[in-house]
Order: sequence, then structure tokens, then C-alpha cells
Amino acid sequence: MTFKHDIVIIGAGLAGLRAAVEAIPSANVAVVSKVLPTRSHSGAAQGGIAAALGNEEEDHWEWHLYDTVKGSDYLGDQDVIEIMVRDAPRAIYELEHMGVPFSRRSDGRIAQRNFGGHTRDYGTAPVRRACYAADHTGRVVLDTLHDECLRRRVRFYAEHHVLSLVFEEKRCAGVVTYNLVSGRLDFLQARAVLLAGGGCGKIFRTTSNAFATTGEMLGLVYQSGLPLQDMEFVQFHPTGLYPLGILISEAARGEGAVLVNGLGERFMERYAPRIRDLAARDVVSRAILTELQAGRGVGGEAYVHLDLTGLGERKIREKLWEVASLARTYAGLDPSRQPIPVAPTCHYLMGGIPTDGDGRVLADEKGNVAPGLYAAGEAACLSVHGANRLGCNSLLDLLVFGRRAGRAMMEEVASREGRISGPVDPVPAVQERLNLLTGQEGRERADDLRQQMQSLMMDQASVFRTEGGLKSAIGLVQRLQERLKRMAIRNRGRIFNYELMEALELQHQLALSEVILTSALHRRESRGAHFREDYPERNDATYLKHTLVFSGLPPRVRYKPVRITRFQPEARDY
Ligand SMILES: Cc1cc2nc3c(=O)[nH]c(=O)nc-3n(C[C@H](O)[C@H](O)[C@H](O)COP(=O)(O)OP(=O)(O)OC[C@H]3O[C@@H](n4cnc5c(N)ncnc54)[C@H](O)[C@@H]3O)c2cc1C
Repeated sequence: MTFKHDIVIIGAGLAGLRAAVEAIPSANVAVVSKVLPTRSHSGAAQGGIAAALGNEEEDHWEWHLYDTVKGSDYLGDQDVIEIMVRDAPRAIYELEHMGVPFSRRSDGRIAQRNFGGHTRDYGTAPVRRACYAADHTGRVVLDTLHDECLRRRVRFYAEHHVLSLVFEEKRCAGVVTYNLVSGRLDFLQARAVLLAGGGCGKIFRTTSNAFATTGEMLGLVYQSGLPLQDMEFVQFHPTGLYPLGILISEAARGEGAVLVNGLGERFMERYAPRIRDLAARDVVSRAILTELQAGRGVGGEAYVHLDLTGLGERKIREKLWEVASLARTYAGLDPSRQPIPVAPTCHYLMGGIPTDGDGRVLADEKGNVAPGLYAAGEAACLSVHGANRLGCNSLLDLLVFGRRAGRAMMEEVASREGRISGPVDPVPAVQERLNLLTGQEGRERADDLRQQMQSLMMDQASVFRTEGGLKSAIGLVQRLQERLKRMAIRNRGRIFNYELMEALELQHQLALSEVILTSALHRRESRGAHFREDYPERNDATYLKHTLVFSGLPPRVRYKPVRITRFQPEARDY
């Protein structure tokens, strides 16, 4: 069937919902989510949202700007970072007014805590800048925004899987969805489409990300001939619960937990003498892996300890109960008495779909836009995080730029008169593609191919990379893409056909793996989360620029300049 809306938003995480709240008063808005909306990964965010409120101690947006630029290893675009950090206090108070139950100080003001890379006075000491609701911040903000959307009568298409973007003379005119419950394909027609489908952490074997984090929005954009930006920058969070990779929030270190190696040493003193365990994530992840490679893991194993025992039971119960519950459930230990085994886990994609400051998708390195198409959230790349994101800056990014995208779409919709003419019904072509896939003869299994992809990405493209490793990984990914053509789908049913959906996700994941590897291969330097053992230094003369990759055989790589307004690149130490 065909449904008409002014605005269709894909993704019910914080980026999508914040955009919906903004656009709904004057536009007819629909939100599509392949999972139940409140199961979006944003609900798993624990630690907090960064804003220089200065409730605990002196703080300024200029310091937040500096920290974000430095954290990004000078690859972030400073004009958009400035928009974000200046808007941060407003974004927090807005949530407060919507009813988000932030943790409070005894004087009633919103409490704030430390987080990695957030400092006072341009890097001299840690500053308490993260606003939080215990350690379930994402959950309460997601529920609040979801309620707001229901109250404002946003139309939800829950458990609808977007399979295809529809273009009419290069303008995005809607999407085709698969309704998991009924098995039906629908065309959701729109004047503006927002891609807020989250990141792609599931490409790697060990990740903190939810199962749905498969990066299809990125895949669909790439498939449409549009570029992806800075995809070599994938963040590994230092403290994944070993061996599962489930996140132990940085809030733990923010509240005073410390990292300890197998010799009982607080090894971060060697890597970041000034702010130690509160250094930026890329620095801490590399430090942990360096300790492990030197044989200083705990008991000779591939993990170090995160020690919360000095915090006291009460603080853990009040501020870190989610961390404690994860440690109890998945490792069977009580963090007020025993240290938690941790190792780096794939966490966040700094790269993504290039956009301007209002979420408009950029079609090339010259700044031309793809009409009708917007992106926000982890799927987008503005770039406010550059080569490495600071903790608590993602939720902030979603709120600030989700809102701006919602507003820009609303204005675009209002300025274009008349009905949407609508392209030829795109559903039969998508159905045909599904039929071909389910009718395919072969013995390859999606599960198998996925596991091989995840292992090879983990081995060759996680924290440390080399030319040889990346080249061999590209060859292997291409072989997996060949084998994908011989994949058999056993489930021929129409409803809840997860096997078919996972096969489609895998097609995108393999394409994105190739983009990550290609971008990483071409960047012959080390910057932020991208560390090349064969080029261990940052090289501003050649590589202070954003990577764009377009699809092709092989993928085509281009570059565009970084926008620097206030802070020239400097040596980066903590
Ligand atoms: C465990 C964890 C803890 C974190 N903690 C913090 C923190 O404390 N502070 C912070 O700033 N950041 C944190 N982050 C990062 C932050 O939570 C994420 O970057 C952010 O939530 C991403 O939000 P989003 O709106 O872009 O997408 P998501 O919340 O990931 O939502 C994606 C949405 O897209 C939908 N979707 C995807 N593909 C399709 C499709 N094909 N069809 C239909 N729908 C689709 C999904 O159903 C979902 O609704 C954390 C991340 C993790 C994993």
C-alpha cells in the first residue's frame, strides 16, 4: 500500500524522535523503526549528556569546544562543534522541562560528573560536565521523547524494516518498508526523509552495540551513489565487560573507578599523566591493548581490571546501579568487592553520511545537497566528533542536530506547495529483488558469512591497523561478497522473516566493511581512533582532511578540507 506523509523519519532513537518532536506541529510526521521504538539503542546509553552548565564547578562552552576539538584529534569541523556546545545548556533545560528525571545536587540543581576528555581551563584538570540520570540516562530521555511524540500524534511504523530509498529525479521521495508482522511491503511517500538509523557496530565481533545496529541507512545511501565520510574512524570503548563486550559505562571512571593491570599498577599514569583514567577513549583503549601485548593482562589473560571497590556500596547503588547489575548478571561478581574484567569493545562510528549543520545530506565534496534527504544521529557525520568522540557528546549531538534537522525539514515542507506527485510504484521492483534472493540456489549461510566478516574486521581493522592487514581484509571481504551470491535463505515465509532481513543487513554490512577498510588503507597516518602501526604519527600536512568514499569497483576515495575556526592543531596529550 502507499501511505503519504510530509516527513518520514527512519529511526526511533534520540535523533529521530527529537527531530519528530520539532517537526510535528506543522507537518504530518511518521517514524519508522525496525525494532519497537523504545528498544532503540539510545535507550542503552548510561553515562550522560555533556553541557557546560557549571553546576558543580566553573565551566564554559569555550572549554567544551576546545575539549571536543582536541578529542577529535583536530579533524572535527569547528563551526558545527561550536553550534553544538553553545546549544548544549538549552538542550538540557529543554529535557528538564519535558520531565526527564536528572540526578540532582542537594541544592536542587542538575548534578554533573566527570567524563573522559572533558577538562577545565583548556586541558589542565578534569571538569564535571556530564548531566545524568543515575546510569540510565538514555533510557529516561528516550522514554520522555517517545511520550512527547505520542502526545503530539506522530505516526509510528514499529517493526517496519526500511528496504529501499525511493528517488524521483534525484529527489528522495520516500521509502519502501517491510512490515514484519504482516509481511507486506509498503511505500511511504514523503517530501522529506530523515535517516536516523544509528551506527554499524555489529560489523565487529566484540561490540557494545545492540543487534539492530547494522548500519543499513549508511548502506542505502552508499548504494544510491552518495558518499560516506570518515568511515575509518571507529571508536573502541576501553571498558567492555570481558569477554562479551557489553559496555561498562565510562561513568564508572567518572565516579572514581580506576584501571589496573595484572601487576596491580594504575597503568594510565604512564599514558596520560595529567588526567590518567579520564583521558579520551582512543588513548585509553590503546593503553589497555599495549599493556595486554606486553603481557601485563590479569593472570596472563586478555583483559585488565576496572576497580570500583574504592567507591563504596552506597555510591555504586545510587549512581552506578546499571553497571553493578551488568557485572552481577554477566560476570557473577559484586563490583563493590571485586574488580571487573574489561577490554576494548567496538562502540561508536565517528564517520557516516555527510551532512551540513541542518542535517541536509551532502552529495559530494563541493557541498551540493541530495534534495529531500536528511540524516542525523550516529548515522550522520557533520563532523562534530572528527577522529574520536568524547563520552557524552553523542547524546548531545542527537539532541542538538536532531532538532535542527527537524526544523529544516519542516521549513522545506512548508516552502514546497502542492501534492507530492509520486514516482511509479516502487514496491514491485523491491518485491522482485526479495523473490530473487529467496529463490537463490546455494549453500552459503548468512550466519557463517557474518561471523567471518566480524572476525576479520576485529583482527585487521579494530584498534591497531597495518597496510598488509587492511589489504588482505579487503580481499577477504570481496570474497565474502562473492559467496553472498550463493547464499540460501531457508525461510520462505512472509511474516517475521528475520532470516531474510538479516541477509539484507549483511549485504550492507559487507559493503560498509569494504568502505571502512578502504578509508583506513588510504589514510597513511595515525589520528584519533585510527592507528596505523606502519604510520604511527599524525600527519597534518597531508591528512588534515575528511575522507569521502563513493561506491565503485574499486570504491573511489576523495577528500575535503576540515573547517578550522579557533584552534589550530597541536600535539595531543592528556
Ligand atoms: C551501550 C551504549 C552506551 C552509550 N552511552 C552513551 C552515553 O552515556 N552518552 C552518550 O552521549 N552516548 C552514549 N552512547 C552512544 C549513543 O547512545 C548512540 O550513539 C546513540 O544513541 C545513537 O542514536 P541514534 O538516534 O542515532 O540511533 P539509535 O538509538 O541507534 O536508533 C536507531 C534506530 O534506527 C532504526 N533502524 C535502523 N535501521 C532500520 C531499518 N532498516 N528500518 C527501520 N528502522 C531502522 C532502529 O529501529 C532504531 O529505532 C552509548 C552507546 C551504547 C551502545
